[in-house]
Amino acid sequence: AAPEAERELTDGFNLIIDALKLNGLDTIYGVPGIPITDFGRMAQAAGIRVLSFRHEQNAGYAASIAGFLTKKPGICLTVSAPGFLNGLTALAHATTNCFPMILISGSSEREIVDLQQGDYEEMDQLAVAKPLCKAAFRILHAQDIGIGLARAIRAAVSGRPGGVYLDLPAKLFGQVMDAEEGRKSLVKVIDAAPAQLPAPDSVKRALDVLKGAKRPLIILGKGAAYAQADDEIRQFVERSGIPFLPMSMAKGLLPDLHPQCAGAARSTVLKDSDVVMLIGARLNWLLSHGKGKSWGDQPKKFIQIDIEPKEMDSNVEIVAPVVGDIGSCVSALLAGMGGAWPVPPADWTAAVARKRDENVAKMAPRLMNNNVPMDYHGALGVLRTIIAERPDAILINEGANTLDLARGVIDMHQPRKRLDVGTWGVMGIGMGYAIAAAVETGKPVLAVEGDSAFGFSGMEVETICRYNLPVCVVIFNNNGIYRGTDVNTAGDDPATTVFVKDARYDRMMEAFGGVGVNAVSPDELKRAVNAAMDSGKPTLINAVIDPTAGSESGRIGNLNPQSALKKK
Ligand code: ADP
Ligand code: MG
Repeated sequence: AAPEAERELTDGFNLIIDALKLNGLDTIYGVPGIPITDFGRMAQAAGIRVLSFRHEQNAGYAASIAGFLTKKPGICLTVSAPGFLNGLTALAHATTNCFPMILISGSSEREIVDLQQGDYEEMDQLAVAKPLCKAAFRILHAQDIGIGLARAIRAAVSGRPGGVYLDLPAKLFGQVMDAEEGRKSLVKVIDAAPAQLPAPDSVKRALDVLKGAKRPLIILGKGAAYAQADDEIRQFVERSGIPFLPMSMAKGLLPDLHPQCAGAARSTVLKDSDVVMLIGARLNWLLSHGKGKSWGDQPKKFIQIDIEPKEMDSNVEIVAPVVGDIGSCVSALLAGMGGAWPVPPADWTAAVARKRDENVAKMAPRLMNNNVPMDYHGALGVLRTIIAERPDAILINEGANTLDLARGVIDMHQPRKRLDVGTWGVMGIGMGYAIAAAVETGKPVLAVEGDSAFGFSGMEVETICRYNLPVCVVIFNNNGIYRGTDVNTAGDDPATTVFVKDARYDRMMEAFGGVGVNAVSPDELKRAVNAAMDSGKPTLINAVIDPTAGSESGRIGNLNPQSALKKK
């Protein structure tokens, strides 16, 4: 052994960086501060892309959607206590949405935290994180960094993906150990998300149920988009001949203009179908729990493909559960279909197509209006054309009316190009998602935002300008939440759902050197978005929308509680 003085040493800082790089985790979304400022600097110097945000929640949302887009855990880095708590919202969001993510937070000293002696930013972060994520780990010793990160990666991406918390006390970063021992302690995770093959019986059962269907329907969810089994899914849907309904983030997995797409006949297919096959979609509130009025009174049989066995029977009986990863399950179904698969009854597929074409035709003239002030349809008609002409652009979408109407109007043409509020219907994902989408894919990003939704992450326009990202933000500015017309009848304060009238959000972008445009007509909007997409310059377009347009809570007004007193 070499004499003590000549031994090469390493430390916690370097071991964490080496462990991340060894596992191909080359991007960090975070906010610097004690105790991770130097770590961020060193990671950047070592070739990791470190993107500094203005608020941890937005960095966290960025990491979560990076996970969805890449199938690798998105990394978010925060300081202790308050920074950690800000990032935690996004970690819970990742877990709820089944996106792989690792929240790495610096923390204060265990000895002081555990005796509650009042350290700088003292908080038992591991305990706080645990109930809100898929797994939570703390690393106390430099020699455990390799194993600690390996556990975090596996927990995030294997089985049903989700959020993982990794607690790194300040002291860990400075710990020193022998460099050679350190190198040996790192783990390159092999096959982090192993294929999970479905049982052959379950595949046969599913095909038998499907074969007996008179009015079958396939619902594609964002789990199917995540799986990146695009070719298999497309082959399966096309060979089956069954109409398919994409959930919002599965739009484009097969193009919305595909002849079998039933997107514009949603209520009809939910009501009238007799066998429904769910692929990576949960029967949660977004599908009315698989029962009640929107599902009609025809008896239904559900087939479900999901990696999580406990998802089965969560809301209604699943007569044919197929548990496994979607790529393996769909391949097994394709193999089991054999040469001759009966197409579904023509009266059903024709009825679905008729309904869809009717609805599309009804909508078409509204999308071509050139009204000033703009209504949602006039503005969205323009954006729909732009996405059709630029199908590889990524569309981010949040808001109430801006979300609900854009989802229906803007057709998607390629997989994983539509990123939106997800399972919680949460506001605030906008700028974080836009930044990560640009960073992870290198494609142009169009973020279509309600004025209220934008407010939750608006300061990140500075981040967009700083990194000079090809992001075009369009704010549907109708002066308020839902609408801009509410009046307070009891005093001088503005009503609770209105904002400053005629605000000029475009000037926010100009403040940081980006391009700002105020667009009052669909023609102006079209010109400005096309210019932004051509130039790739950070752009914010304030699209002036009629303040009376839109409805309370968009399409989910029914979720607002109502008193029996009010109903009379
Ligand atoms: P949507 O909101 O689009 O309906 P959900 O988030 O409700 O989608 O459902 C996604 C489902 O996909 C989850 O139940 C999750 O377990 C499942 N899932 C995610 N990744 C995979 C995968 N690779 N293979 C199989 N199922 C998956
Ligand atoms: Mg609004």
